[in-house]
Amino acid sequence: MTPSETFSGGCDCKHVRYRMLGTPLFVHCCHCRWCQRETGSAFVMNALIETDRVELLSGEPELVLTPSNSGKGQKIARCPHCRIALWSHYPGGGVIFTFIRVGTLDDPDRFPPDIHIYTMSKQPWVVLPEGVPVMREYYEREKYWPKASLERRAALLAKQPA
Ligand SMILES: [Zn+2]
Ligand SMILES: [Zn+2]
Repeated sequence: MTPSETFSGGCDCKHVRYRMLGTPLFVHCCHCRWCQRETGSAFVMNALIETDRVELLSGEPELVLTPSNSGKGQKIARCPHCRIALWSHYPGGGVIFTFIRVGTLDDPDRFPPDIHIYTMSKQPWVVLPEGVPVMREYYEREKYWPKASLERRAALLAKQPA
């Protein structure tokens, strides 16, 4: 793998630093109540990427099992010192996929949402831009992901032991 670009990020206290090797597969903006509670905000932005494209530069995040809407829980990687949430792993994708919290990137402006999900609980003041898919709940990956991302996903799954 020769990623053309890397994108670095980290926590508030700078103990954990990481970089993404290449661009994300897809960027979710999730408006569900769980994400609202976890961020204390109106939504969360997650950049989905293969875990083998997330390189830890310093520190060791702690994986905290956190309840989730599905009931299966998600693992949130937090800095052991400042406790900032850097990324998550969801049961659906397993640990081979990482959901980077876009706000922890040094240049979070680089990755605006590719899709808005769970807008059934969107806070009413949030006005969504034209031209970005809006889902009341979740969505069908094959319909919305770019072809290159679907191929990267398939390549990663093919590498996993049966
Ligand atoms: Zn920290
Ligand atoms: Zn959510």
